Amino acid sequence: MMRLPWFGFRSPSNVAEAAKILTGEGPQAMLIAGGTDLLPNMKRRHQTPSTLVSLGRIGELKKIANGAGAALGAGLTLNEIVASPLVREKYTGLYQAAAQVATVHLRNMGTLGGNLCLDTRCNYYNQNYEWRKAIDFCLKKDGDICWVATASKRCVATSSTDCAPALISLGASVRLVSAQGEREVELADLYRNDGIDYLARRADEILTEVKLPPATGWKSCYWKLRRRGAFDFPVLGVAVAVKTARDGTVEEARIALGAVSSRPLLTKGGELLVGRKLSDEAIAEAAAKVASAAKPMDNTDLDLYWRKDVVPEFVGYALRELRGDDMSAARLRIARHAL
Ligand SMILES: Cc1cc2nc3c(=O)[nH]c(=O)nc-3n(C[C@H](O)[C@H](O)[C@H](O)COP(=O)(O)OP(=O)(O)OC[C@H]3O[C@@H](n4cnc5c(N)ncnc54)[C@H](O)[C@@H]3O)c2cc1C
Ligand code: SF4
Repeated sequence: MMRLPWFGFRSPSNVAEAAKILTGEGPQAMLIAGGTDLLPNMKRRHQTPSTLVSLGRIGELKKIANGAGAALGAGLTLNEIVASPLVREKYTGLYQAAAQVATVHLRNMGTLGGNLCLDTRCNYYNQNYEWRKAIDFCLKKDGDICWVATASKRCVATSSTDCAPALISLGASVRLVSAQGEREVELADLYRNDGIDYLARRADEILTEVKLPPATGWKSCYWKLRRRGAFDFPVLGVAVAVKTARDGTVEEARIALGAVSSRPLLTKGGELLVGRKLSDEAIAEAAAKVASAAKPMDNTDLDLYWRKDVVPEFVGYALRELRGDDMSAARLRIARHAL
């Protein structure tokens, strides 16, 4: 049985108090929300914080505001996101991404903020301590070499959050609060292409809120590739948001990928669609452009080359769904892993 290491536990009732505790405790403290990623990681000794600062009692992180755009509290559970009519109707890509995270039990605990700050993953890292010790560990934790890219000085562990690519395609930004003040950053800029230092968030900052621009004229969707349809981390996530004029001409489009690098990736594929209708030709061109940006590594489930090959297929599925094609058969095939 894997046991948790010893740690101190603080449970503030508001963000200001949590920020003060984080600053006081220093970088050895960590935030815990649902704990669905952090606690297993602590059991495997990936992270061994001296103190956990819980966000679970902070009511202000649970708000959903619907104005010109929307604001979603970082403490909302993924099931609360899925149950929100606002998210389902206006920000469908986020709804579909959140609904496909893990299992219903994990979505009852796991939060939006925790999902966006999820640790990167790798077959050589997501193992217990003894397993990792047997291979002399790796760069990301306790070792000196990357077993995936042995000449690399950089860890190439994979960003595996489902909600981040969906929210990036929707043009989201996030609010980061610390005892020193607060700042808002584009969600795409929260991430770094570095498997170890994967967030541009300081250790004393709390992600408190996700802001979404108005959804008028926009449609969005999320397609996920994984081994088991019931639950599994993504080995590819394709998030597409498109704004069209009444005649179907694309005015704006964003296509983001998950699980193909150490960060969720906003690609240039959407730019190729602007000023055109979603014809088969335009879709194929955009899909090829997006696929050229995907650089998956051999450190997750399923064959590396096949994962790269199916990127344009998935982008095509997503864009055709937004065009109005009935894609339910393809969705079912993927859920059954019968591609
Ligand atoms: C079996 C299993 C399957 C899973 N499948 C998926 C999947 O398919 N897709 C997927 O995306 N995830 C998956 N997960 C991971 C996880 O359950 C979700 O990502 C969940 O949303 C994490 O949220 P949490 O609140 O539990 O985060 P926690 O575990 O509490 O925290 C995760 C990280 O985020 C930090 N953090 C949490 N909240 C904040 C905040 N507000 N501000 C700053 N930092 C913060 C923590 O310090 C920690 O580093 C899976 C987990 C398990 C165990
Ligand atoms: S990519 Fe390399 S350094 Fe990073 S976790 Fe995997 S083996 Fe370790």
